Amino acid sequence: MKLKLTFSLIFIYTHIVLSQNFEYPITYECKNDLRFLKSSSSNTITHDFDILYYEITVNWYNVLKSSDRIYPGKVRVVARVDTLISTNQFYLNSYLTIDSVKKSNNQLNFTNSNGVLTINLDRTYSQNEIIDLEIYFRRTRTDNRGFYYYPKSSQTLENLAYTMTEPSDARYWFPCYDDPSNKADSMRLIIFVPKDFVATGNGLLERKYTIGDTTIFVWFERHPITTYLIAITASKYSMFVQNYTSKYPPFETIEIQNYQWQADSLRSVYVMRNTGLMMECFEIYYGKYPFDKYGHSTVSPFSYGGMEHQTISTIHRNWLTSDGQYGIAHELAHQWWGDLVTCETWKDIWLNEGFATFSEDLYKEFTQGKSAYFSSMNARANYYYNYNPGYAIYNPPQLFNGAISYYKGALVLNMLRYVLGDSLFFQTLMNYRNQFSYSTATTEDFKNVVSQTAGEDFSYFFNQWVYQPDHPVYIYNWKVTQNQNKYNLTFYLKQTQTHYSVYKMPVELKIQFPSSDTTVRVWNNQREQSFTFEFNDTINSVIFDPQNYILKQASRDISLDVFQDNIPQKFELLQNYPNPFNSQTMIRFSIPGKDFVSIKLFDLNGNEIKTLVNGELNSGNYSITLDASQLSSGVYFYTMKTNSFKSTKKLVLIK
Ligand SMILES: [Zn+2]
Repeated sequence: MKLKLTFSLIFIYTHIVLSQNFEYPITYECKNDLRFLKSSSSNTITHDFDILYYEITVNWYNVLKSSDRIYPGKVRVVARVDTLISTNQFYLNSYLTIDSVKKSNNQLNFTNSNGVLTINLDRTYSQNEIIDLEIYFRRTRTDNRGFYYYPKSSQTLENLAYTMTEPSDARYWFPCYDDPSNKADSMRLIIFVPKDFVATGNGLLERKYTIGDTTIFVWFERHPITTYLIAITASKYSMFVQNYTSKYPPFETIEIQNYQWQADSLRSVYVMRNTGLMMECFEIYYGKYPFDKYGHSTVSPFSYGGMEHQTISTIHRNWLTSDGQYGIAHELAHQWWGDLVTCETWKDIWLNEGFATFSEDLYKEFTQGKSAYFSSMNARANYYYNYNPGYAIYNPPQLFNGAISYYKGALVLNMLRYVLGDSLFFQTLMNYRNQFSYSTATTEDFKNVVSQTAGEDFSYFFNQWVYQPDHPVYIYNWKVTQNQNKYNLTFYLKQTQTHYSVYKMPVELKIQFPSSDTTVRVWNNQREQSFTFEFNDTINSVIFDPQNYILKQASRDISLDVFQDNIPQKFELLQNYPNPFNSQTMIRFSIPGKDFVSIKLFDLNGNEIKTLVNGELNSGNYSITLDASQLSSGVYFYTMKTNSFKSTKKLVLIK
């Protein structure tokens, strides 16, 4: 009885504390968030506001002390009207019981039904005016949705409460505008727990103080944050800190705070041994770690492996027993791809999951070399072939399908890396980061960055790999004909898939001679195409796409006539590919009949730099590789001349 009395006194007491108006400082940028004016598709409520600040107070004392799942809370919402039409109503998503809504201590009328809290404002607000409200609520649901509670058991070593909300369950633990497109400029968490408990949250611990039997944790995230990345975890945790020194000025030390139950702490020290190395890897490839701290909160049970909450990932306790290194790398990579740059709508989920999955393999390459990277990508491709549900990675019916959002997403990035080459690919990621930092991006945004960086329209690539389901089906054959001491290889390639007319990709062919081999790249942009090469050595075999870059089905059909597409109708000199390029590019040309062909490279002043072709060739489509590793950056021209044809094209070398 005594205990119970104490609890109810504390409940009343903390209710009073919730009502006190302690003014925490807030900051937000007073400028129009243009990105926010884009329409959002993942929320049904009318939305005329840009959220600037959430201050979320929750009292989990009784939850953790006496397994009472009902908790009171308060959220302060600061928002700016960003519609042209003045408004006297304000909307939030909420599956909570709302006790009152206040503006400057005046009660406002509201309705709260079907997951929508509609607040009647005290007057009409017009564009750019600030609305500052306090909403007193209680979570009266007793189910695990958005908010989870597990009492101490064999798998839950201490009473445990946490939030887990991706994609749209934040509205089950605090009233909010629950959409990935709208980040609050900053956010504060004020969490009441029994004094022997620890509450983790986003950003930095601003205050921690104890009143009686209650400890209050105040976490402040000064960076923009979207609702699904806000998280609290509370239990009787031990914590250890690792320090990582950023590779970028001003070379700050970033704390990595690891929270786990006492019995798991040694295991956690071991499993977290590489977090700093992972940070170094991702800082090298993706730029400076974008937040003030990082960390892990360990939970069990958990329906997921890990969740990339901003600055503090939630991880399943079984990662400590199974040494889940790649899961840890995955969640960390999300801090760049997901948290810093957030998918603007859930249709764009592959921008989060594909990138984080790709990052696991990039970390593998960083620590174990390129062959480990390739074998991991091959394993992902095999998984995709087995479990492909037949829909595109853009706007998937199942958001978290492993074969699509994760594996095909990663494989598409691997193909993009292959098509662009490493320097343009990583430059693209840096440009994407720089353009959309602390904001949100759509698939079209990413496509535009790729096109801008490459200096070429990449719509074809996104149409075939991102917006379309499935993958190409190739059949091919090759033949060698001998002409005196020369060996002419003709490689015939045909696409037979029915869902998409032509996949345009560079295709590598590994040509094996008796005692050596060479790999050439051809540009496949037709449903049926032949490629002709001349070698001085006899050819034993040709391997199609030897590194398995392309997601595909492919088989050789020796009955195919390789010469069927081999007689071009006209002379043609095509634009080199890639362009601009670093070191190597491919020049393609066609001749309709036997002719003398010369192709030469000139600099801007018309000085001849290099002879690429000079001799008599049979009719055919040819591809030659220009190796410019000895040349300096700049603009060059290449000219093709035959007896009756002349054409010049420009190419750009960037080193
Ligand atoms: Zn993920």
